[in-house]
Amino acid sequence: MHIYLDHAATSPVHPDVISKMSSYMAETFGNPSSIHSFGRQSRKFLDDARYAAARSISCKPSEIIFTSGGTEADNMAIIGAAMANRHRGRHIITTAIEHHAVLHSCQYLEKNGFEVTYLPVNEEGSISLEDLQNSLTDSTILVSIMYANNEVGTIQPIKEVGALLQEHEALFHTDAVQAYGVEDIKVKEIGADLLSVSAHKINGPKGVGFLYAKEGIKLQPSQYGGEQELKRRAGTENAAGIAGFHEAISIVERERGEKRESLKALKEEMISVFNSEEVRYEINGHEERSLPHILNVYFPGTHIESLLVNLDLSGIAASSGSACTAGSVDPSHVLVSMFGKESERSASSVRFSFGLGNTKNSVSEAALKVCGIVKRLTA
Ligand code: PMP
Repeated sequence: MHIYLDHAATSPVHPDVISKMSSYMAETFGNPSSIHSFGRQSRKFLDDARYAAARSISCKPSEIIFTSGGTEADNMAIIGAAMANRHRGRHIITTAIEHHAVLHSCQYLEKNGFEVTYLPVNEEGSISLEDLQNSLTDSTILVSIMYANNEVGTIQPIKEVGALLQEHEALFHTDAVQAYGVEDIKVKEIGADLLSVSAHKINGPKGVGFLYAKEGIKLQPSQYGGEQELKRRAGTENAAGIAGFHEAISIVERERGEKRESLKALKEEMISVFNSEEVRYEINGHEERSLPHILNVYFPGTHIESLLVNLDLSGIAASSGSACTAGSVDPSHVLVSMFGKESERSASSVRFSFGLGNTKNSVSEAALKVCGIVKRLTA
């Protein structure tokens, strides 16, 4: 039996999302920018989805820009805001453990005259507010700190960051791609100016996401063409994807609380099997401030490649956590940031992430297989 424990990489599409997308595609095809009835019919899907996305984070529909996913939302926030605000300063602050969509955008900016400070994290994967405070200068125009990390699940002190930045001119972006499905995020409460979300992490389709950009914030466009997405992103929208995203957002809104509890129970189930089977393990990440669906575990004496291959052969899909480099199992840059280059942990840790379709029984069965493999690899 195959057991999928890699929901942080991507998640299965919910059957209701599939129905919504199929009926959109079967019944509607007009270009949302056309003024005739076919266009208006398509536009209604976009407007309804924009309204639902906005309501879910308590902002105005006009502050939602649909994108091709979390990567584009991050790129738009970082490069778009930096380029549009470069007359005010050329310093950006981010963390060493961001997703590559943020890190590579920052590296692009560094090659183009910007200076970037990468805040370090402690062994639990948290930044220090003091470090942030000390890094802010008069020329800091943007601070980008992820809501929660995709590899180890650590949740950053986002409200405190927002409060600290109230006193400063810098814009505040947070990558909420992993957190959105399980955390109730209200942009006013966290003081964010920019926030990224992706549909395929919440049982929606791939290739669609949104960027929240607070009213009045200037962003240099990354695509040029028509005046779609409220003149902020050119190109005919992925309307079927957005319709499916709308359905996924509605499900998240309806079931978030319940989902958190069941994900926590699955995580606890896996840990309890590790304990009863007496394998040697340590959990990476923050003990309390952690996403319920991510369990990153260090198995001393193993190596990530052999672990993942053996897991795959036993029908278990898990990940090294640094799943953004297709086809490779890079030791995680996040664990390197947490424990240092020399630490064996970054090469001997595996990420299990739970979601739709996982049950207590299937997780327990997977955990037993994991224990068997770990015992064999360390014998
Ligand atoms: N940010 C984070 C934290 C992520 O986990 C991911 C997906 N791996 C992304 C951004 C990129 O999102 P997408 O795959 O929709 O481009």
